[in-house]
Amino acid sequence: MRTALVTGGAGFIGSHLTDRLVREGYHVVIVDNLATGSWSNVAHHSREAVTRIDWDIIKPMDWADLPESIELVAHLASPASPVHYRRLALETLWVNSKGTGNALDIARHFGARFVLGSTSETYGDPELTPQKESYWGNVNPIGPRACYDESKRFGEALTMEYIRQYDLDAVILRFFNCYGPRMQSEDGRVVPNFIMQALRGEALTVYGNGLQTRSFCYVSDEVDAIYRALTLTGLKGQVINVGNPEERTILDFAEQVARISGVALQVAELPLPVDDPTNRCPDIQKARTLLGWEPKVSLQEGLEATIEYFRAFARL
Ligand code: UDP
Repeated sequence: MRTALVTGGAGFIGSHLTDRLVREGYHVVIVDNLATGSWSNVAHHSREAVTRIDWDIIKPMDWADLPESIELVAHLASPASPVHYRRLALETLWVNSKGTGNALDIARHFGARFVLGSTSETYGDPELTPQKESYWGNVNPIGPRACYDESKRFGEALTMEYIRQYDLDAVILRFFNCYGPRMQSEDGRVVPNFIMQALRGEALTVYGNGLQTRSFCYVSDEVDAIYRALTLTGLKGQVINVGNPEERTILDFAEQVARISGVALQVAELPLPVDDPTNRCPDIQKARTLLGWEPKVSLQEGLEATIEYFRAFARL
């Protein structure tokens, strides 16, 4: 049986990727320390389909704990919510640096294809829009978001060196605001915050004037791009944006969440966090050309499914 290893496979995106890989006939080895993930996200898989390893990837793995062959490695382990990566700042720095090194070593040892889950945060607060992969970014290296932004940038640099020095077959994907079921209801990001607030009849907490923009990509679209990057050939050394190019303001997003939740919009204005990017929108020409990919799920459909998922949590 073909085997894939997913770091962060018990997390939000990682568990959906695991579902897809299992559907495609892979055995999936999940390496996760449950810092922000949960085994409940993958509890529906049998032991034949999925091996769970409770391990912090900042420590090197013992080959004896791994199967004889691994064809694909997806490195997705990292806190991703600004609230979580502030709380876990050092863990975030280490998982995206040492952790990326250890994940790269696994791919190198097994001769596997490697996909790095990177981020639009590598562009920081961008001075141009939409963001192309060729843009070097505008990142504050010492601010409160640096633990995430700079460690992801280091992870990209490290991945490129493994390609140059060891000829590793690796691809870097930069994710733009992925959302969907299995996000944590309390993770502090705008999607769970607004949905939980709407479902509880509370005001939606808009930070700043709400005119900052984001582009939201539904998780099944995101996973489809990751799967393509893991399995298509000829992608070595490519850096590819993965996101939905439909850009909207946070205020507009609040309106959509309230409308689809069936409640009147109430807004509570809170201060804008330090270094919060003013705009974010992917140029996805490379994803279209290299992966044959573009998002298919509309915000309406994606939010309906996500709101449905969060209803159970709002009743608690
Ligand atoms: N945001 C907001 N209210 C919230 C949470 C976030 O207005 O309750 C804003 C935040 O300031 C940012 C955007 O929504 O401009 C997206 O924030 P999120 O934390 O989801 O992720 P980011 O894109 O900043 O990494």
